[in-house]
Amino acid sequence: MKAGELIEHVVNLFYPKLCLACECENYSGTIPVCVSCLAELPLTNMHNQQENLITERLLGRINLHSAAALFYFTKKSKVQHLVHQVKYSGDPTIANMLGHWMGRYLSKSDLFNQIDMIVPVPLHKDKLQKRGYNQSAEFGKGLADILGSPCLPDALRRTKQSVSQTTGNRTARLLNVHESFSLNTGIDLSGKHILLVDDVLTTGATIEACATKILALPDTKISICVMAIVMD
Ligand SMILES: [Zn+2]
Repeated sequence: MKAGELIEHVVNLFYPKLCLACECENYSGTIPVCVSCLAELPLTNMHNQQENLITERLLGRINLHSAAALFYFTKKSKVQHLVHQVKYSGDPTIANMLGHWMGRYLSKSDLFNQIDMIVPVPLHKDKLQKRGYNQSAEFGKGLADILGSPCLPDALRRTKQSVSQTTGNRTARLLNVHESFSLNTGIDLSGKHILLVDDVLTTGATIEACATKILALPDTKISICVMAIVMD
């Protein structure tokens, strides 16, 4: 056993890795959930579908190359528990592990084999400071590790905090989110196929706002990857 493996072994003994969905101690290997959760979690298999729930939801709003989510999200489910941990546990490695997991699926899909750059949906800087990490950026870095394309967390900026997504009518939300992203002029995305990544896709307004900015640059293509998509 190498020194690094020994240290990991000892750390696991005192701080066992827990299944991300049910927090039991029964998992080992590359997928961070236990066998029974893996059987239960609603994986979407969207990475193998040219048309799916995401492309349908964004139809007529943005021109998409491909789109995929790792899980379907429903309330009071294991996926909700998992997404809650991703955001609020204080541990950025959870999002990173999900990125590795999803990356292995994308790397085997013809729909995602020409990604040049990975761009996460940014957090507003106040929120980033409070949380300590951007879960979408950590997810993107995990994807980048597997896909071999760079992840650029600073390519987009969230210049104004969006209003609560649970209040107001849909048009008002769209306008507000739309106003709050800008491109970092120091990073040139033109001519590139961008994989835009986020944690949870609900109406798609946030992704739409970010994609619209990128698609305004010459010869750009957009694909989307999220951890979970909320069911209707
Ligand atoms: Zn479990």
